[in-house]
Amino acid sequence: MRFSQAFIPTLRDNPADAEVVSHRLMLRAGMIRKVAAGIYTYLPLAWRSLRKVEAIIREEMDAAGAQELRMPGVQPAELWHESGRWEVYGRELLRLKDRHERDFCLGPTHEEVITDLVRGEVRSYKQLPLNLYQVQTKFRDEIRPRFGLMRGREFLMKDGYSFDADETGAEATYRRMEAAYHKIFGRMGLNFRAVEADTGQIGGSFSHEFMVLADTGEDDVVYCDSCDYAANREKATAKVAAPEKRETPDMEQVATPGVSAVDEVAGFLKTTPDRLIKTLLFDSSPGSSFDYNKTRYVAVLIRGDREVNPIKLGNHLGSAEVALASDAVVEELTGAPLGFSGPVGLTGLRVIADATVAGVTDGVTGANAADAHLVHVLPGRDFPLGDTVDLDSAQAGDACPRCDGGHLAIRRGIEVGQVFMLGTKYSGVMNATFLDPEGKARPFVMGCYGIGVGRTLAAAIEQNHDDKGIVWPMPIAPLHADLVVMNMKSEALVAAAEDLYRDLNAAGVEVLLDDRPERAGVKLNDAELLGLPILILLGDRGLAKGVVEVRARAGGETREVPLGEAADAVRAMVEAAGGSAIGR
Ligand code: ATP
Ligand code: MG
Repeated sequence: MRFSQAFIPTLRDNPADAEVVSHRLMLRAGMIRKVAAGIYTYLPLAWRSLRKVEAIIREEMDAAGAQELRMPGVQPAELWHESGRWEVYGRELLRLKDRHERDFCLGPTHEEVITDLVRGEVRSYKQLPLNLYQVQTKFRDEIRPRFGLMRGREFLMKDGYSFDADETGAEATYRRMEAAYHKIFGRMGLNFRAVEADTGQIGGSFSHEFMVLADTGEDDVVYCDSCDYAANREKATAKVAAPEKRETPDMEQVATPGVSAVDEVAGFLKTTPDRLIKTLLFDSSPGSSFDYNKTRYVAVLIRGDREVNPIKLGNHLGSAEVALASDAVVEELTGAPLGFSGPVGLTGLRVIADATVAGVTDGVTGANAADAHLVHVLPGRDFPLGDTVDLDSAQAGDACPRCDGGHLAIRRGIEVGQVFMLGTKYSGVMNATFLDPEGKARPFVMGCYGIGVGRTLAAAIEQNHDDKGIVWPMPIAPLHADLVVMNMKSEALVAAAEDLYRDLNAAGVEVLLDDRPERAGVKLNDAELLGLPILILLGDRGLAKGVVEVRARAGGETREVPLGEAADAVRAMVEAAGGSAIGR
């Protein structure tokens, strides 16, 4: 590709409305242009990279036994009525009418269409398992499209769907997809973690999200610094050691005038925060207008040194949202001001205890009386402790729940893919069944598997850039190398560059020949901005010695390579770094 003829409209200055680095650099490197909010044209460089991302995905999906097909972007409302999602999907679903006033939508995902396809074609367990995928444009009318390709409204997704005869088969397929995802993101050179994700309202299922670690991510990833444990905040657990076991004398009420914060109480009563049992009142339907009703509130017990994870609590209660109750409600329901609540004698209110509470001996709690606490409290003896629940929020530095000696770290992550065990959620409601060996109709057991193609590219840039521009990982770089002719006025140099350009192409190296009549400084700036993995600099001084300068964009030393060996040397670098040519 000759830069002088290529459509690579680079920008010198930072575009004003681009908040994250991948968005900024994709605009500046002439890769994308906005058409409308969250809707972009992919220019040739972006399109080349996107095709490489797709190619890696296709290779690994095919290798894992999936087959590619292609479904339409426009979908009839009838299918969405069948699944029940027409009503519940919300405004992200862009609905439209055709000339006959029939309802359609722009597909944000394809469970309905694929389930309809398979129920019409697959009759017998002998035709299973079946694993189908596509790479296709999705539309979601996101409320806040932003960050360029990271959160668009129109975007490229690989979406796959599997159909198995039973749970065991479905789980094996799920594991195969999970493994394929590890290979896909690994081949792209990304630093990622597969996290156990929350499956929300679909109970009994499981899911993993593939998160690229980057500060601009929208989610927190909790992961172990020594094993491969990783989870979203709403799922993450920590190994929390119980305080040393002690005899618990008879419970006693003591005055704690004006002392209510955990650390102050612990100090005042000469104990440690891990022996305190905090009692927090939560509202399970905040903002709702229904009349005062005790069943709306719940008391949550957790150890003084730990925090309640509101998403875990919400999931446990089946509430979309929970919030701390107001001071007035606390006072009304416990009979004491905020800071003095406790489980002993607390009646008429649902009480849920976090698992950490069970390990407390010789504990301290509020006395449900102003300026008073109870000491020498033993859970189970002094107040009922039924089944405990995990409501604890994992913190950085906590012990890993899976391995010995590992500690948890928390970083931001970008969700680039998700694998999801659907079970019979769609096949059940859409009556998609097959006949088992006994001739009995059974619903397909399904899984679904998504990868954001554009988001993956953006995430790769978030992870691979410096203050001058992009630093492409070889496998998804738009081209392998940038051949910069330092002085286009020198005929000998131009002739040598043309020879090398020809040799590189012949060697299978994808090379951008910067043959623009620009100053060397401008070209070098653009080379660093575009971030092609290998820079080849051809100048008069080198030519006099018969060499070119070759260096990796990612850093490291500059090598002088004899002109005649340059094509082979560069090809070796490309191969060593996992470069592949774009399919024709
Ligand atoms: P998010 O929580 O970020 O909105 P999601 O969980 O709704 O995403 P999925 O339904 O799991 O998304 O879609 C599969 C993949 O598609 C995601 O993992 C992500 O990589 C990509 N994706 C989803 N929404 C967008 C978007 N608006 N723009 C770009 N990529 C997206
Ligand atoms: Mg997701």
